[in-house]
Parts: sequence; structure tokens; C-alpha cells
Amino acid sequence: MVAEACARSGRSPEAVRLVGVTKTVGPSAVPALLEAGVREFGENRWQHARELLEAPGAGDAVWHFIGHLQSNKAKYVVRHFDWIHSVDSLALAQEISRQAIRYGRTVQVLIQVNVSGEETKSGIPPEEAIPLLRETASLPGLALRGLMTMAPKTEDPERVRPVFARLRELLAEARHELGDPGLTELSMGMSDDFPIAVEEGATLIRVGRLLMGT
Ligand SMILES: *Cc1c(COP(=O)(O)O)cnc(C)c1O
Repeated sequence: MVAEACARSGRSPEAVRLVGVTKTVGPSAVPALLEAGVREFGENRWQHARELLEAPGAGDAVWHFIGHLQSNKAKYVVRHFDWIHSVDSLALAQEISRQAIRYGRTVQVLIQVNVSGEETKSGIPPEEAIPLLRETASLPGLALRGLMTMAPKTEDPERVRPVFARLRELLAEARHELGDPGLTELSMGMSDDFPIAVEEGATLIRVGRLLMGT
């Protein structure tokens, strides 16, 4: 399905990475997913992630933290995760930076943007994205890589397209304004809407239910 969406939009399948979201499964799923060729895993809660990180083979995978992150959990997440998709404040970015220095790591960071403006969604408003990217750009221990969003839940998949398109435009604008060629990543698309996200430029898709079974 990813390959078909890439073909429709003239993109190379290598340009889109699949993050398997493991929040609903136990540690035994980790070796099975690795066996099936999934190399990147996404978790939205530290409490759940810590069990999976001890599964056989977990150390071979790339780990993405995709959920809301409280500053007091940053020390655990920074130590074990390669990517954090959900940075939504300068204070959190500063804490990630502090912990990354402490553990001698560099964390790949995305800013989460609430493009659809729904009150229940986390993330910052689109107009605050570039200012926050500017403020975090010089923090040591983190590499700013791009933007993440969650689409509104809807029966009509075409309603999500403008949300993904807006995130793509925002990233292009940010790359230009900050002059940072490293800003290349768009984390968008889940089980229900990843084909549209791929057509709109997603580089990281976060797929749970479809991959894990329900
Ligand atoms: C659960 C979750 C996903 C995966 O959702 P599915 O609909 O199961 O594919 C993606 N991103 C985030 C932030 C999630 O919490």
C-alpha cells in the first residue's frame, strides 16, 4: 500500500519510512515485527515502552517517541529513543537538550503542530512553528529534523489532505527561513490515512492498528 501511494505521487518508496506503532502489543511482538522487516518502532507512553525496550532484538530497532512527553519523563525517553516527534514547547526542548548532553546522545527532534486546530489535539498552532524552530535550533544534543501532525478523525479521508498539505508547506517555509537543509522530515499519516499522507509528502508514517491487527 505504501508502494502504491508512492507510485501515484511519483515518489521513491525509500523516501517513506514505516514506524510500527506498538502501543497495543506486548514485548513478544518486537521479534516478530523485526522478522517481518519492520525496523522502526513508535511508542506514545514511556510506561509501556520500557517493557518493549527489553524485548529480544529491541536494541536493533530505531525507537520513535510519538506521544505527549512530560518534562519529568524526558530523562528516560532521551536515553532510550532515537527520535522524539512530539516537541511542543521550548521548555521541553531545553530539557531534552540537557538530558541528551548528560547521556552523550543526539536526539532527532520533530515539532508537533496542531494544524487542524482541534482543541483535543496536542501540538502548537502553525504560526508558532517557525518561532519555536528558531528558538530550538541552537540547542546542543538535539538535531531538528522537521514537523509532525495528527489529522482529524473523520470518515472522509479527503478531509485530511489539506492538513497534510499545510504541514508540507510549513516545512518548506521553515527550511527556507532557517536556511537549514536538515529540516526534511514530515511525520504524518496513520492506519486510516497514510496513503494520503504519502501523496502529500510524508517521510515517516506511524502505523499501528493496520500492522498489529486489532
Ligand atoms: C496510536 C498512534 C498512531 C497509530 O495509529 P493507528 O490508527 O493505530 O495506525 C500514530 N501516531 C500516534 C501519535 C499515535 O498515538
